[in-house]
Amino acid sequence: MDLTTETIEMYHDSLNPALAKLFKFMGLDSVEVEAEGMIIKDNQGREYLDCVGGYGSLNFGHRPPEIVAAVKEQLGRMPLASKLLFNRHLAEFTTELKELTPGELQYSFICNSGTEAVEGALKLARLYTGKKEIISTINSFHGKSMGALSATGREQYSKPFAPLVAGFKHIPFGDVDALTVAISEETAAVILEPIQGEGGIVIPPADYLAEVRGICNQQGVLMIVDEIQTGLGRVGSNFAVEAAGVVPDIMTLAKSLGGGVMPVGALIAKPEVWEPFIESPLLHTSTFGGNPLAAVAGKKALEILERDNLALQAKRIGTKLLAELEKLSLKYSDLITEVRGKGLLIGIELVDEGVGGMLISELIDRGLLAVYTLNQPQVIRIEPPLIMSEEEMDRVIGILETALEAVLELKS
Ligand code: PLP
Repeated sequence: MDLTTETIEMYHDSLNPALAKLFKFMGLDSVEVEAEGMIIKDNQGREYLDCVGGYGSLNFGHRPPEIVAAVKEQLGRMPLASKLLFNRHLAEFTTELKELTPGELQYSFICNSGTEAVEGALKLARLYTGKKEIISTINSFHGKSMGALSATGREQYSKPFAPLVAGFKHIPFGDVDALTVAISEETAAVILEPIQGEGGIVIPPADYLAEVRGICNQQGVLMIVDEIQTGLGRVGSNFAVEAAGVVPDIMTLAKSLGGGVMPVGALIAKPEVWEPFIESPLLHTSTFGGNPLAAVAGKKALEILERDNLALQAKRIGTKLLAELEKLSLKYSDLITEVRGKGLLIGIELVDEGVGGMLISELIDRGLLAVYTLNQPQVIRIEPPLIMSEEEMDRVIGILETALEAVLELKS
């Protein structure tokens, strides 16, 4: 049996047969073996341009050499922490986070995923305010553990697990009037993404974040901004809130925070909000959070983000890519309803989910990996590493055009 057949059988037997079927249905019938920058190679020697970008965890590309080297170095010394002695790498990493994140954001807790970062943020908001209610937005995505899922605004994921955590309300994204109405005496915090990623790359009105900040200040409600997907240069600034001139009370980060090498998440908050964690430093903990490998990867990632000005790179190349995609949307208006995005977080909205499925298959056949957003399957995300070159961008456009042509033919 060849490697591919054997791997698919193993998926059937020990992971989930439905997952194996879904992958095959999308035309994915090979095994990935190595990757570098924007390119993934499979076991049959085929190469793919990666426009999925690990759902935003590969801002630095696959296998960024400096981050790999730093992690390898640490691997040879001490991979996991004693948890008792001081961890120098963790101290340097959180110092760097404090310096790079906007405004008074200062104290952070390092964990291992985005979901955990959101859990920590929600817990801290309740602890600091002594209130229970959290306002989130419809169509949002904040993760799938019980607390994070209670914030996530999609019933398809949350309903099967009811009752979830009590006290969550969901209001339309981008609607400040709805927020004003929803806030009550019992509201601890508002949690939102600056741009809804899994919701289908939904960009709110230009002054939305600033207005939410104003309302939160007025009402004494905390503002939690989930930058897990938008952060670290993705949307053309180090953090999306920076472009809006807003400083949240708590910010969550993950995905590319581990430099595409380690799983790393973080929540960072203003000192006043952190007070209860200072009073009880063991109230919220994690065995693996902030381990030396993760801390070294995170520290290096932040260093490269700043040194190479990846945010500017994302802005520059993202603007060109969006302009090219807009041309394609006019040419293929029978298939595409809209393209939208900021920096290198771009969505192509198709006329329906079926067209999306066909397009993904045609793209994979031509060596381009792209996938739909979790809450909106008719929106295909283009979320490549921020280090994508212009030549790679031209190849992405070329492949998209021939794939759209093929879908049009299939439909006729
Ligand atoms: N928050 C946002 C905005 C996300 O996009 C995601 C994942 O897609 C999460 C939270 C959950 O992160 P993770 O999958 O690392 O738990």
